Amino acid sequence: MILVIMRLVIMRPLGWLGLFFGLTASLTVPAAALNREAFIIAKYDLEVRLEPEQQRLGARGKITLRNDSGQPQKVVALQISSSLNWRSIRVDGKSVQFVSQPYISDIDHTGALSEAIVTLPVEIKPRDSVELEIGYEGVIPLDATRLVRVGVPEGIAKHSSWDQISPSFTAVRGAGYVAWYPITTEAADFSEGNSLFEVADRWKARAAGSEFKARIYFSQPSSEAPPILICDHGGGYSAEFGRNQAVSADCIWSALGAVTPTFAMADYQDQSKPPFYLFSLPGHEAGASTYSNALEPAMKFVSGWFGQPSAPVAIADFADPNSGPFESGTLLMASMAAEDSKLAGINLIHELVHSALPSLRPWIYEGLAHFGEAMYREQQGGRQAALDLLGLHRAAFLDSEKEVSAVQKNPGQPLATTFDETYYRSKAAYVWWMLRDMVGDDALKQAIGKYRAADGKDKDKDPKYVEQLIEAAAKRDLGWFFNDWVYQDRGLPDLRVQSVHPWKTEKGVQMITVTLENLGDAGAEVPFTVLFEGGEITKRIEVRAKSTATTRVELPGAASEIVVNDGSVPESDLTNNVFKIDAQQK
Ligand SMILES: [Zn+2]
Repeated sequence: MILVIMRLVIMRPLGWLGLFFGLTASLTVPAAALNREAFIIAKYDLEVRLEPEQQRLGARGKITLRNDSGQPQKVVALQISSSLNWRSIRVDGKSVQFVSQPYISDIDHTGALSEAIVTLPVEIKPRDSVELEIGYEGVIPLDATRLVRVGVPEGIAKHSSWDQISPSFTAVRGAGYVAWYPITTEAADFSEGNSLFEVADRWKARAAGSEFKARIYFSQPSSEAPPILICDHGGGYSAEFGRNQAVSADCIWSALGAVTPTFAMADYQDQSKPPFYLFSLPGHEAGASTYSNALEPAMKFVSGWFGQPSAPVAIADFADPNSGPFESGTLLMASMAAEDSKLAGINLIHELVHSALPSLRPWIYEGLAHFGEAMYREQQGGRQAALDLLGLHRAAFLDSEKEVSAVQKNPGQPLATTFDETYYRSKAAYVWWMLRDMVGDDALKQAIGKYRAADGKDKDKDPKYVEQLIEAAAKRDLGWFFNDWVYQDRGLPDLRVQSVHPWKTEKGVQMITVTLENLGDAGAEVPFTVLFEGGEITKRIEVRAKSTATTRVELPGAASEIVVNDGSVPESDLTNNVFKIDAQQK
């Protein structure tokens, strides 16, 4: 599974660093206020040549800038990784003036960007575009500067900051890790709370509609066996995965969505069974075979729930077994050094769900894939095993959701529109799980089967499309749930037993009346378990935001305890979920 490791491990607020970097940045920026996020790069068309022996990259191509601000703009700040240098910038075949300067920002692994402050020949009006021909080159060595300088030990930092071009192993992620293609962003700072993630997520949201095309290529002495070059590849979801005998690969996305364009090159062994592509490294045969062996059952499981996997997806190996896994779009990078059949199984499920169910909506695309992992775990180890897997996601969004609850009018991160991974992966996985608990397997399968992604004959245009599909299949109103969990961010529920009243019917049947209270602003249907002498009974009840709900349960014996929530509903407070029924009440 892919957890958002960066955010969990790396936050080390250091106030003085922020001050220092802030000063450095302000000294190098022109005096006139420069709106660095005025332009978005609406279209990329790049050719990128790799020279691994020198750790080099040289790029040329065209980009289309669109003025997304409300004012006309004549100056644009184009940024690439600080280990790359601008060579040329032209408009209409003519070189344009630009000043190149370092710009301190943690959005790049080097902790800085090479910024070209470009004066355009004419002012660009709001919503208008301009095409630039660009050229840049430089090196991309392993560099953990941005982590090391906020106090992460270098040995650990390298495990998450593994991007590099090198003769033996190349893997480079895009914006947020390495700006190997131009971006337009304000400075991001690891040491200032969430600033890095705000800037990086804002970039993702701004670039979500951008068209991206990059041909990566590599030429080498003909005597040697060529390495395999791969690149995550979306677009029409129809092309061959970006592995190519000509040692070039195309990264093509008609719209980036939440994708971070990523390429890798190594002496991979190709064990692909399209649409599933598997690239492992020599010496990792045993680990790779756990993937091959798990493929058939995983295919069967995914087909049963999400439809036949048909779009190309890939899993590629790391040279350093300690490298933290990373996934973007249709490519998962994960070490195959160890034989871990459980992990191989859920990684496969994740990618095959992507293959079966393309969507440009991150909470659907990633949320369903993580939900699929949990269901597969349930099939193998039972409900508790699945809830344990989901539980690993809970910490990722718990703190920010507590802030949403605490600060009224905090808009938070509505799932439907967020580009924050912790939400569209972790929270979304829970939301799908809760929906399944509420409507059942058959109805949810039926709804998923009818889902068609937002490409070509676009069906997923209406923001309420998914809600309507599930409501139609389940014949149940889910508007309140989608409002609290998907369209808005209302924080998390906080459920507790408000009161318990045991009683007996005239015929002597033992009954209990239970009132549950939800102190939070998000409603939920929650399971609660009544423990009695000799057994337990679990029921489900819908408790809306800031409300109570009451139900009666018939019992074979006197109740001793009530436990609210088996862990399937993410809550802000889990310490008030057990209610002991004292002797007096009995
Ligand atoms: Zn995924």
